[in-house]
Amino acid sequence: MSAGIELENVCCDFGSFRAVDNANVSIKPGEFFSFLGPSGCGKTTILRMISGFIDPTKGVIRIGGMDMKGQRPNQRPTALIFQNLALFPLMPIWENISFGLEVRGVDKATRRAKAEELLKLVDLPGAADKMVSQLSGGQKQRVAIARALAVEPQVMLLDEPLSALDLKLRQHMRAELRAIQKRTGVTFIYITHDQGEALAMSDRVGVMSHGRIQQIADPREIYNNPVNGFVASFVGENNIFSGDVGMTSDGLASFSTPHGQFRARLGEKATGKGVKLYVRPEHTLISESAPSENAIHGRVEEVSFEGNFIAIHAVTDSGMKMTAELRNDGSSAIPEVGAQVWMGFDARHAAILPDADT
Ligand code: ATP
Repeated sequence: MSAGIELENVCCDFGSFRAVDNANVSIKPGEFFSFLGPSGCGKTTILRMISGFIDPTKGVIRIGGMDMKGQRPNQRPTALIFQNLALFPLMPIWENISFGLEVRGVDKATRRAKAEELLKLVDLPGAADKMVSQLSGGQKQRVAIARALAVEPQVMLLDEPLSALDLKLRQHMRAELRAIQKRTGVTFIYITHDQGEALAMSDRVGVMSHGRIQQIADPREIYNNPVNGFVASFVGENNIFSGDVGMTSDGLASFSTPHGQFRARLGEKATGKGVKLYVRPEHTLISESAPSENAIHGRVEEVSFEGNFIAIHAVTDSGMKMTAELRNDGSSAIPEVGAQVWMGFDARHAAILPDADT
């Protein structure tokens, strides 16, 4: 069983400080949904409100269609997993997993059977009688997930559960978590400041800044069509130009900058002041001759081999640093340091965006 979650105009104030400002989101049953944002943007506060550890100052939270107002954490169909897993070191793994069932008065044989079933689900068969100290970081993580699943929650709330693991294990556990979520069908709400993690695992992502949800969309949409400069910058690299929007036609606008006259897609709320043009390094082209539009002349300052791509760092004649990423498959000519080059971009791959929703 899994449940959907709705947040309707949810705010959370700590004194005069608004930590979450008018959050609206509808998470589907069985969805893997991540809240992504920098430290202090209010992600944990949202999770704590869903789990019932703090009350919203305003607004409604529904789980499985039921208003959660006045429902204590243990009355909600949710289970919470923290970075600090809080496993019991003196209990064997199976007892750790079935602890929540013991509290509910379930008999020993049923608890043991349930623990073994869950150990299979998280890919740790045969670990039932081991002690916590005998497991690796990733294995402990799986035990914590099995323990949370033991009480059959409809919603799993995960607060940066992978941040204590090393990079390789973290990447491996991304795929594991995703697989466990698909196998169980339980709704997962995942909190992270790591954009790679959120984009790789989630069905949809809510990007947050300063207490506000900036954009809710699937990972491709978030990366390819960010609604504002905050989202564009938080989920990837950009070459950024400040300038003024001019004439528009066909969803493209002219944009005058001290570095040249460009054309790019015009984002929805990109009007007035504080707008900039964003183009990703992988969409920034480099050539010996001037492209027909969006042409910028410059000089290559550094060529850096990054494995699957080559980063060309250049400085424009107008003094701006730019980066272009070329595929490392022999399909592009790699310029030398000091070479005079033209940079450019397809207008459809660049967007004029407002800064952030504050
Ligand atoms: P992190 O990734 O660092 O945990 P976060 O995005 O989860 O960050 P929150 O923990 O939700 O952020 O905190 C949001 C803001 O609310 C922060 O500025 C924090 O200092 C503040 N805050 C959180 N809890 C309280 C509290 N109990 N009292 C006062 N301020 C709080």
